[in-house]
Amino acid sequence: MTNLSSEEYVRYNRQIILPEVGEEGQKKIRNARVFIAGVGGLGSVSAYYMAAAGVGYISIADRDRVNADNLNRQILHHSQDIGKPKTASALEKLRQLNPHCHIRAVQEDMREENIMELVGDSQLILDATDNAETRRLLNRASVSKHIPFVYGGINGLNGMVTTFIPGETACFECLFPHKAVEKTSVAVLGPVAGLTASVQSMEALKLILGMGGLLKNRLLYIQCSDMTFREINIRKNPDCNVCNTERRGMI
Ligand SMILES: [Zn+2]
Repeated sequence: MTNLSSEEYVRYNRQIILPEVGEEGQKKIRNARVFIAGVGGLGSVSAYYMAAAGVGYISIADRDRVNADNLNRQILHHSQDIGKPKTASALEKLRQLNPHCHIRAVQEDMREENIMELVGDSQLILDATDNAETRRLLNRASVSKHIPFVYGGINGLNGMVTTFIPGETACFECLFPHKAVEKTSVAVLGPVAGLTASVQSMEALKLILGMGGLLKNRLLYIQCSDMTFREINIRKNPDCNVCNTERRGMI
C-alpha cells in the first residue's frame, strides 16, 4: 500500500497515534469501501464520521429531498438545503469536509432491482434507513455478498445497534422475522440519532481496522430517558429464510 502523505499524517494525526490505528490502520481506512443506506438522521452522522476518518470510498443512496422537519437531527443538511436532494446536500458537505474521499451519491429509492448494484463492491453496509422493508433488502445484500451489516434504529428516546456478520452471527431476518408495523413519522430527538449513529460508526471503523469487540449477537439498547445502555443477546434462527445456508439458494 502507498505510504501516507505528509498531509494525511497531519489530518489523521489524532487517530494515527492510537495504537489500534497507526499507519497501517490509516491505510486500511483509506482503502475502505463503505455503503451508507440513507443520509437522514443516522446517515448524516455516520457519513460525516466515515469521511472525517478518511474512508477512501463512500457510497450513499437516498431518494428524499431535505425538509424543514429533518433539520432537528439530520446534521449534514442546513436551512439553505431545504428542497435539495439529500444526496446532493450530503455530497457537498462531505466534499468540503474531506476532499480526499471518493464519494458516490445516488438519488434513488433502494429496491430489490437495484440494491446489489448500489451496494456494489462495498465491504460493509451501514444501515441508516427508517423502515424494515429497506433493511430486509440490505440484509439480503449483506448475506449474499458476505459483508457485514451494521444495523441502527431509533424511536423517540431509544436507539438500537447491532452488527450482523454473515456466517457468524444472526441476521436482521433472524432478529425481526415478521414484518414490523411501520409508523409514518417517528418522534426523535437529535442526540438520540447522533448517539446511535456514533455507535454504528465505531463498529464500522472497528470492522475496517480488523478490531475485535464488535456487537456480534449483541443488540445494544440505548435508553436515553434514564441513560441506560443494555445488551440483549440475540441468536441465529436455524430456520431463517435468509441466512440459513441450506436455504440460501432461494435468495
Ligand atoms: Zn437470519
